Amino acid sequence: MYDLCIIGGGMSAISCAITAARRGHKVIILEKNDKLGKKIYATGNGRCNITNHNFSADYTRYYNSSSDLYDVFLKKIFKSNCPDEEVTDFLKSLGIITYDINSYVYPKSLQASSLMWTVNDVLKNLNVEILFKSEICKIDRIDDLYEINVSNRKIKASNVVLACGGASYRKLGGSLCGYKLAGMLDLECTDIRPALCGLKTVEDVSAVAGVRTHAVARLYSDNPENEIYAEEEGELQITNYGLSGIMIFNLSSKAGKILKSGKRAFIKIDFVPDVEDSVINNIFDNHSYRKKKALLNVFLNDKLAEYVLKNVDKTSYDTDYLINYLHNFKFEIKDLTDFENAQVTAGGICLDELNPDDMSIKKYSGLYAIGEMTDIDGICGGYNLTYAIITGKRAGESI
Ligand SMILES: Cc1cc2nc3c(=O)[nH]c(=O)nc-3n(C[C@H](O)[C@H](O)[C@H](O)COP(=O)(O)OP(=O)(O)OC[C@H]3O[C@@H](n4cnc5c(N)ncnc54)[C@H](O)[C@@H]3O)c2cc1C
Repeated sequence: MYDLCIIGGGMSAISCAITAARRGHKVIILEKNDKLGKKIYATGNGRCNITNHNFSADYTRYYNSSSDLYDVFLKKIFKSNCPDEEVTDFLKSLGIITYDINSYVYPKSLQASSLMWTVNDVLKNLNVEILFKSEICKIDRIDDLYEINVSNRKIKASNVVLACGGASYRKLGGSLCGYKLAGMLDLECTDIRPALCGLKTVEDVSAVAGVRTHAVARLYSDNPENEIYAEEEGELQITNYGLSGIMIFNLSSKAGKILKSGKRAFIKIDFVPDVEDSVINNIFDNHSYRKKKALLNVFLNDKLAEYVLKNVDKTSYDTDYLINYLHNFKFEIKDLTDFENAQVTAGGICLDELNPDDMSIKKYSGLYAIGEMTDIDGICGGYNLTYAIITGKRAGESI
């Protein structure tokens, strides 16, 4: 008989297990993979970008699909405007020192594997039991207890935490199992969709695939027209299917939401956000003996200059037109890349099902849901691991 059984062994489960075990509870983790936190090893390109010191009190780094009041929810869950400090304090208590690069926080070793080594040792020291290769497809509630059958064992627990993560990156543990479990328990879930992923464009950009350039990307829809939904600055990566790079990832959750609502989504790229129009004008006016492609190549990669020229309206081909074009190059988004190429899953267990104080499920006592399987997704920069750690911690503190 366990005080707590956690289904899933990712970051949210780890913080929940440690918190509850430290409070004297008997804890077991059931994980379908053969090790804990497979996804964590892949985070931050293997360096594990675990939180970010650039937190904002308005929670604009997070999105959700089911509630307009998600900022209120996050405020309650985070309890302070500095959840990053709670994350670094928690890591410190495990014996992990952090290091930040421009507000992005990593373990000092810059290795996710060192964090996982520590975490595994801490869990062992706290006598947290872990069953690997244990995929859970059913939970029974009998009287006041939960019963789970796994590997010819019947696990009984007074509390169960669903920590199954999202559907992205199947090879790292992503699956639909968690949502199916939630459905069997009659928990309302939103549709899910990939997020922190690339955007497929209607326009064929394969001729410029591989080009990387600094740009500003603005996300629009056709309704209301010309209203900017979100804006990001950074490195644009052009791929065979469309647009990628961290700034595009950060727009993908909102782009997916627009497409899901049946509207059309567009990205306008400003290829020259940091160049004054007067500078562009001077180059074009003073060097008019040069070919247009050569002049554009002053500001843009040569392949991109050719692509831009191919797309201009040759009937009104003056400098002002080109400058406007460079600031507002338009792509229509037809789709997101699939779950296998998306760092997180948007959507999940509706926030209305949850108590934001401790992530408990309102309609069952002793049942909780934490981390990515709930309907919150963050942008790149450590915000998703922060959410996983804090939600896990809240559940662990309440049990
Ligand atoms: C390539 C990549 C890079 C990323 N980089 C960053 C980053 O730098 N910073 C950041 O903040 N976030 C990053 N993320 C996102 C972050 O990793 C996740 O949001 C976070 O790990 C979610 O934690 P979780 O515990 O909710 O779920 P997960 O870590 O997905 O853990 C869920 C676990 O549950 C197991 N499981 C699922 N269903 C069952 C079941 N039915 N029975 C038993 N076990 C089950 C899975 O095998 C998995 O181990 C990245 C994601 C990816 C894929």
